Amino acid sequence: MSLRRLLLLSLGGTITMVPSAEGGIAPRLGAVELVASVPDLAKVASIEADSPARLPSPSLTPAHLVDVAQRIAAAFAAGVDGAVVIQGTDTIEESAFLLDLLVAGDKPVVVTGAMRGAAAPGADGPANLLAAARVAASDAARGLGTLVVLNDEIHAARFVQKSHTALTSAFTSPMAGPLGLVAEDRVRILVRIDRTPPMAADAGPPAPVALIRWAMGDDGRMLGALSGLGYAGAVIEGMGAGHVPADAVEAVGALAAQMPVVLASRCATGPVFSETYGYPGGEIDLIRRGAIPAGTLSGPKARLLAGLALRRGGGRDATIGAFAHFQ
Ligand code: ASP
Repeated sequence: MSLRRLLLLSLGGTITMVPSAEGGIAPRLGAVELVASVPDLAKVASIEADSPARLPSPSLTPAHLVDVAQRIAAAFAAGVDGAVVIQGTDTIEESAFLLDLLVAGDKPVVVTGAMRGAAAPGADGPANLLAAARVAASDAARGLGTLVVLNDEIHAARFVQKSHTALTSAFTSPMAGPLGLVAEDRVRILVRIDRTPPMAADAGPPAPVALIRWAMGDDGRMLGALSGLGYAGAVIEGMGAGHVPADAVEAVGALAAQMPVVLASRCATGPVFSETYGYPGGEIDLIRRGAIPAGTLSGPKARLLAGLALRRGGGRDATIGAFAHFQ
């Protein structure tokens, strides 16, 4: 049987980083060098490699990922079977979710990176890259949308998060657990999920959406400044199941009258509620004042989804529609 064809795009990150003359490690390696450093890849797939960026992932923007989504769609249309995207781990959960929303169809898209630099003892990049390619080339991963593979675990884009600053086991999916693993060179999918409804990849990057995390005693005065800053919407990470202090409800309501406001939680996992707490500042109150529940999405992921819904004049109704799948 002929080998599967994979597109491999490298955007940078620790997996591409080596010591620099200025001190510390910095992104230097490109996709071709990374592929050459893992000879076993040649047994897994025929790989077309490119390096659209060499950046630390905090400097990636949603526009980079829109470009990546379009490159992947073009490659899939030309017969490529799967895609691997390499990038820094700091923003993998956001990049993967954007690709999940923007790349339609059943072919696997897998995002990977590394927690240790390419020259570090025990560098995890080569093993992560090989596992990611195995998943992207597998039949088992078809129809699951964009996946994140690190530490031999396979995570769904909508659930995965970076949960540790240092360990090679940093990636977890606390809401649902990983979908599977790579063991004995075999891709084992243990749980299947429905596909995220795709959104247009040719309608530009997400509109700007503010992300605000609530903390004890905050009366929401910052919200008053938002409307003059050019944001199309805002996401609030409320306390617990989606709550703010009673002192802050007027500010939330006033903002929701000006732009779509999405209510997420600052908790690491769990859905925001919609019909339990009836006190001032509870989720029932905030939803009555116009807030749109983020469902099971984290604040950063809700921010991206709202931004995509708000492109090209989309407003509150488009935002509500986009979040319906995640309630
Ligand atoms: N700061 C790095 C980045 O996200 C971390 C990593 O790649 O692991 O680019």
